[in-house]
Amino acid sequence: MSKTSLILLAAGSSTRFGLPVKKQWLYQGEIPLWLHVARQYQEAFGFEEIIVTGHPDELVYMKQFADYTFVPGGSSRQASLLNALERVTGEWVLVNDIARCCLDKAMVKRVLEKKGEADCIVPALQAVDTVYYEDHPVERSAVRLIQTPQLSRTPILRKALDFEVTFTDESSAIHAAGGRVLFVEGSSRAWKLTHSGDLHQLDCLIPPASRTLTGYGLDIHAFEEGKQMVLGGVPIDSPVGFKAHSDGDVAVHALIDALLGAAGMGDIGEHFPDTDPCWRGADSMELLEDVLTRIRSCGLVPLQADLIILAQVPKLGPYKTQIRQRLSRAMGLLPSRVNIKATTAEKMGFVGREEGVAVQAVATLGIYDWSKKS
Ligand code: MG
Repeated sequence: MSKTSLILLAAGSSTRFGLPVKKQWLYQGEIPLWLHVARQYQEAFGFEEIIVTGHPDELVYMKQFADYTFVPGGSSRQASLLNALERVTGEWVLVNDIARCCLDKAMVKRVLEKKGEADCIVPALQAVDTVYYEDHPVERSAVRLIQTPQLSRTPILRKALDFEVTFTDESSAIHAAGGRVLFVEGSSRAWKLTHSGDLHQLDCLIPPASRTLTGYGLDIHAFEEGKQMVLGGVPIDSPVGFKAHSDGDVAVHALIDALLGAAGMGDIGEHFPDTDPCWRGADSMELLEDVLTRIRSCGLVPLQADLIILAQVPKLGPYKTQIRQRLSRAMGLLPSRVNIKATTAEKMGFVGREEGVAVQAVATLGIYDWSKKS
């Protein structure tokens, strides 16, 4: 039997979705939607090869969830699909958009059973309403509403998509390339998740688990003369600043690492390497905003943080409230959820010798509860 690979397209930016989280990252119980859908396909049909497209910034993170083949998405669905097709080893390929998140096993079975009978096998629904083309009614029995997943011969699909023409699905590309398209009965369960309002229409979705994730961060920076000191996003009156590639905001760096730790997203150096000139002199609050956007778009929400700043100098008592307010605002939290502590090192060690500052941070995240939103 010829091998069939599965491509799951999950690289979209969810611009029409209307929530801070991307739809592929909506949690279903303990796991994001893209993984939930991939597992359902694997369990129901035993695909040996699963290729998932993801946003280039999310690929490293996606690999922490499953042992599939991950490929970067392109600027369009077609570009993403071509990237994924480069990795396909099966003679046949089933392509599913993550937005078609409700798997109707009977429908997919109808598609897979027709393997070999055409170049592309497509689930389609008959129009049930009256249909007009511009201002002319047309015979509705001749109208087909096309769905995914579609099953295609891999070499024909590769060739069919490799044009300067934009196709909205595989069947139209294969049709344009002269290939044969076969229709099977679609499913009314296979509707797309496009807007957040659709969440409550799709009965296959499972509410997210209630889970608290905890991360820890530690950062140390030496003093440097002639530089503005910034701690927790607040300018500090001090004759020295911090030696660093960026502005050296050691408190924000520790907080970022705590947030990344809670999300399982690695560390600050992986996201903002100090070998990359674009982060030279970077405002660490902008890095924090960037990390928070990534965390939120991947289905998690900040809940709380606690920082302890270890500094012999400067005296931080007068700044603690300001730092708390600045960081809590950035995290979208009440100031009561972002605690700032300051202590000296009793004149011991590098902190006690007034050579630099160390900061420890703990942060907690929750899973975004889309099931309570309208
Ligand atoms: Mg640092």
